[in-house]
Amino acid sequence: TRTHEEEDLPHATKKTMADHLRKYESLFTLTPQRMRMIVEAFKDSLELGLQKPKQVVPMIPTFVFGWPTGQESGDFLALDLGGTNLRVCLVTLQGEGKFEMTQTKYRLTEEQKQDEGTKLFDFCAECLKTFIDTNFTDEDGNSLLKPGELLPLGFTFSYPCYQTRIDHGELIRWTKGFGVKNTEGRDVAEMFRQSIEKYELPVQMTALINDTTGTLIASHYVNPKTKIAVIFGTGCNAAYMEDVKNIEKINDLGISEKDQMAINCEWGAFDSFEHEHLPRTKYDTIVDETSNKPGEQAFEKLISGRYLGEILRLVICELIDEGVLFLGQETYKLETPYVFETAFLSLMESDPTDELLMIIGIFTHFFAVETTLAERQFFRALAMLIGRRAARLSACGIAAIVGKMGYLDEGCLVGADGSLYNKYPGFADRVHEGLIDVFGEKGNNIKTVHAEDGSGVGSAIIAAMTKVRRDAGLY
Ligand code: BGC
Ligand code: MG
Repeated sequence: TRTHEEEDLPHATKKTMADHLRKYESLFTLTPQRMRMIVEAFKDSLELGLQKPKQVVPMIPTFVFGWPTGQESGDFLALDLGGTNLRVCLVTLQGEGKFEMTQTKYRLTEEQKQDEGTKLFDFCAECLKTFIDTNFTDEDGNSLLKPGELLPLGFTFSYPCYQTRIDHGELIRWTKGFGVKNTEGRDVAEMFRQSIEKYELPVQMTALINDTTGTLIASHYVNPKTKIAVIFGTGCNAAYMEDVKNIEKINDLGISEKDQMAINCEWGAFDSFEHEHLPRTKYDTIVDETSNKPGEQAFEKLISGRYLGEILRLVICELIDEGVLFLGQETYKLETPYVFETAFLSLMESDPTDELLMIIGIFTHFFAVETTLAERQFFRALAMLIGRRAARLSACGIAAIVGKMGYLDEGCLVGADGSLYNKYPGFADRVHEGLIDVFGEKGNNIKTVHAEDGSGVGSAIIAAMTKVRRDAGLY
């Protein structure tokens, strides 16, 4: 029989937390067999995207032709509009796979992410102007540029765009919570060009590129064994190099069959709308339905840094409602969507103390609630389940490209970048384990490596490659 004291206990007992955990374990765990099924469906989606225009996974031809030689050189600007920051970079390519870079970062506000399109591109141009004024002016305030000189610029725009040329791109849809108005369906390169003109910047935008394409090219520049690039950050996506003859949907463009072209998969869209293949829990459904883009980016919503914290927060809220967690405490601070950052999951997983002191810190400092050790162990285990699922699904995406391209036997490197890949403890190892679960021992032939800064360096290399092609009359 339970004592009176136990019944009054404000926090859950160890036993009940362990019971709850078992339920979430079965919800969030992916068996190797399930993973292989996902990989098969994923391969079909990739193929379909290459055959026909406007598919769920759009497999976008980027008009980046073939690999860099590694000898690309010169000074290039790169403007990187990502999910969290705007960055301006000056990259000096030195050939032989070497480069130098200076950069300035500006954090984007939540308002800017929902404002008018023209305002966003004007802001890009303003930041670019400040950067050029600072970096291309001598001590007496004189410009270091020759009269009429234009600096070549690569514009890294990390959202899905249909391209028919390298310096053009029609925004399909915003992702990662962006909702900037009057931009979807329009040519974002042209919109930015107008802002460049308005501010009279000495710049020529030569290429519009996706961050994954940049990462592919930059990683190959420093290590030619790279065949695939992936971003696991605020968003999630991959790019790889395809034979033009396999991109059926652009057969009529008259591009030489011998050429290769980088494909921006936009795989974050895998299984969108129909939701036939991915194991979504009810928390994933809530994340989706309460997002500004219900139905879209189904794969990304299970994986990327924008959503993992929110998934965990929804589980916590459910257990608060059921009276399991934080009985008798004020929990309103946990009730706002997206307050639980994915960075907290990283911290929880890496807490080295027996008492889980870092987790105490997170909950008292940010949410003003007290936790028992049993609860903290539960939160850590939950973070692990959500983080592990994300990594294993990521492995499914990589396995699909590897399988489709036949890279398994000879092996290849996968250039990887993004906050999740770089900062989430164990993420890379879990991706690797996932590849072994899909492929068996041969999974060891596929290695992810931290990529060179694709959005900066990659953008510059592509701008340089573009210039070479243009000078040769090929564009
Ligand atoms: C975008 C991709 C991008 C990825 C990583 C996704 O939300 O659709 O274009 O590559 O995020 O930044
Ligand atoms: Mg980025």
